[in-house]
Amino acid sequence: MWQLRTDKDALVEAAVKQVLPPCQVKCPIRESIQRTNVMISMLPNDPEKAREGVVQIGDYLYERNPFFTVCGYVCGICESECNYKTKGGSVKRRLLKRFLSDIYTPYLPTKPPLDIVKDKGKVAVIGGGPSGLMCAWGLSTRGYDVTIFDDNPKLGGAVRYIPHYRLPEDVLDTAVEQIVRIGGIKVEKDFKVGGDNPIAKLTEQGFRAFFIATGTPHPRPLTLGVKPVESGDMENVGYGLTLLDQVGKGKIPSDYYLGQRVIVVGGGNVAFDAARTARRLGGDVTVVCLETLDKNHRDAIPADAEEIEGARQEGIRIVASRGVGRIMGNESKFAKIDCPKCVRVFDERGFNPEFDPSDHIEVEGDVLLITIGQMPDRSLLQFAGLFDERGRLTVDPLTHQSLENESVFIGGDVRKVGFMVDAMAEGRQAAYAIDRYLKGAIVQRWAIEFEGSEPPRRAVYKTEPPAKWTSPDNRMNFGMFEVGFTLEEAIEEARRCLECGPCVSCKACVATGIQPALPTVKVNERICSGCGVCVTACNYHTCHMVERPVLFEGRVIGQDTVSFTDPLLCKSCGQCVAACPAGARSISPDFSAMARDKIAEQPGIVCFACKFGWAYAAEDDRFASLKEVVPVICIGKVRATDILEAFTKKGANGVLLLGCAQGDCHFMDGNLDAQKRVIMIHKIMESFGIRKERLEVVTSIDPRGDKMPVLIASLRDRLNRLGPLEWKRHLSANDNK
Ligand code: SF4
Ligand code: SF4
Repeated sequence: MWQLRTDKDALVEAAVKQVLPPCQVKCPIRESIQRTNVMISMLPNDPEKAREGVVQIGDYLYERNPFFTVCGYVCGICESECNYKTKGGSVKRRLLKRFLSDIYTPYLPTKPPLDIVKDKGKVAVIGGGPSGLMCAWGLSTRGYDVTIFDDNPKLGGAVRYIPHYRLPEDVLDTAVEQIVRIGGIKVEKDFKVGGDNPIAKLTEQGFRAFFIATGTPHPRPLTLGVKPVESGDMENVGYGLTLLDQVGKGKIPSDYYLGQRVIVVGGGNVAFDAARTARRLGGDVTVVCLETLDKNHRDAIPADAEEIEGARQEGIRIVASRGVGRIMGNESKFAKIDCPKCVRVFDERGFNPEFDPSDHIEVEGDVLLITIGQMPDRSLLQFAGLFDERGRLTVDPLTHQSLENESVFIGGDVRKVGFMVDAMAEGRQAAYAIDRYLKGAIVQRWAIEFEGSEPPRRAVYKTEPPAKWTSPDNRMNFGMFEVGFTLEEAIEEARRCLECGPCVSCKACVATGIQPALPTVKVNERICSGCGVCVTACNYHTCHMVERPVLFEGRVIGQDTVSFTDPLLCKSCGQCVAACPAGARSISPDFSAMARDKIAEQPGIVCFACKFGWAYAAEDDRFASLKEVVPVICIGKVRATDILEAFTKKGANGVLLLGCAQGDCHFMDGNLDAQKRVIMIHKIMESFGIRKERLEVVTSIDPRGDKMPVLIASLRDRLNRLGPLEWKRHLSANDNK
């Protein structure tokens, strides 16, 4: 019937494509990274006032991700796609979130519980790890009466395996306890859901929907390719996961491996957690893994670079590109492993290791810890009848609804092993789907494809701050070895963020009251000459030239070329407005106009101050001696005419522009553009015989306002020496010339 188009433009996904900063596209829960980075960058340098701001940022993050205080310690996935990565090192988003976490965690117990009536029905969440907790939270905020069933004494799931030197126990305990308290979620601990027809039994208790997120609690046995590698009943052969579990529960003495050679098999983060834990228990540790240490290789070791570096510093040896073919012992005690060379880990079909049996080595040790992955407990899924006739777990990957039982949803590691934040995202998505299912709405949804925005250009890029770790000698315990950001460091690091996404994906300026709404750029097509200057002026690739039909008496009589701005991508920076020679572009509303217009007509200093870097300036007493402070969104937006009119029409004898420091501008290089504009205005002033020292631009960071009194005093001294500005006299002198 149709000649169906299958190209990109014809796909539904393309129609709903959205542009976000690449960090946010990478984050499975789409956290508002840009917005909260901007907010951190605007915190005052006074710890008490900053605390208030941090709680506000935390409240904003908490709504979407009540686990963010934990993420700040262990999740930095977004950093792998940061646009700053190749410019000086990714923005340290995880550490920024840890900074928030360190202030927000002590506040959490005082946070009021949700004020929501739970009258939408009962939902059972089976498994209290990150996925289950996120689902329970999402349902709770929608008015459901949620009960979490977990067979452990404490909720937290696999996050409990993370050693305390990476994630302090009290941070995790507080996060979990407060989600439960604030969300009004019921919990059945030490409770294993199982036996025949578990779902039917829960249904009899009034539960109407179920989310199964039981994770992967069992360690995966050792294999060489697909062949099992047996150890029989050999002593001192165990699993890294068991060690982490026991250490987390405080059941292992601190010198457990003293004087012993421990071999850890595996290349993931859990293997490195086991290795570094064994090292802290006194062991002499070697890691053996299939993968290569080259992070750019297809067969790269999956553990985070920080984990590998930390392990190296702690004296852990890494034997890469080796499998384990045989486990050997002396009598019944473990003694060594035979390790053939691994020549390939992945092929086009995925994980499919290949070995060279002619190249093998032996690694000797006293203890072997196998840590090559985890497996789910399939019993509940089996008892609940959730496998199809071929034994597969059939689940819609977007809604997480079981194809065998529509009231059951399955997510997190039990469905697909991933990072903690992947499991959290599945919990969120399941809560949304369960809500729709129980409301009788269509549960089905399609994937929305997001596009990462291009890196904005800056003239100056700053280098990432160095990692602050305690020395390896002082690290052989379970206290945190990473030192978090101070307030000053957090502000400085957040200022590095390029704010890559479109304004509509951030709106930090609107949320914080810097401006009441996002202004829009308008083009008067009747005035636009089609010269294209705006296209070159726009740093955000947002101005385009488009063809428009020319109409005469309702008929098309030709084509005209005019400029167009994509409203979704425009940053309202105003560069195109300032650049347009025909005056066809305008910004509306121009929120600075009112402040500009009300400048009193009397001598003194007019100060245009960027609201991002100098937000406090208009209210600060130290600015009281100035004639007027005009808050602007960026000094790059202050037009030459604004400055000249301050002198000519308002009688100012000095003008001061206060902008953000180099590399900190929220509009790429608006501060540099202002500097260039000032050089041009200096020339105009000098051509009228007016000393250029009357106009000064400062690009700096001064969140406490310490530099201000000095700056103002020096400008005032200069102006006093120059005497009053008699602009009209200069004009008429020039006329006479
Ligand atoms: S520079 Fe900022 S907004 Fe851009 S990708 Fe990095 S963290 Fe995200
Ligand atoms: S206001 Fe800035 S981002 Fe928007 S079209 Fe003009 S130059 Fe481009």
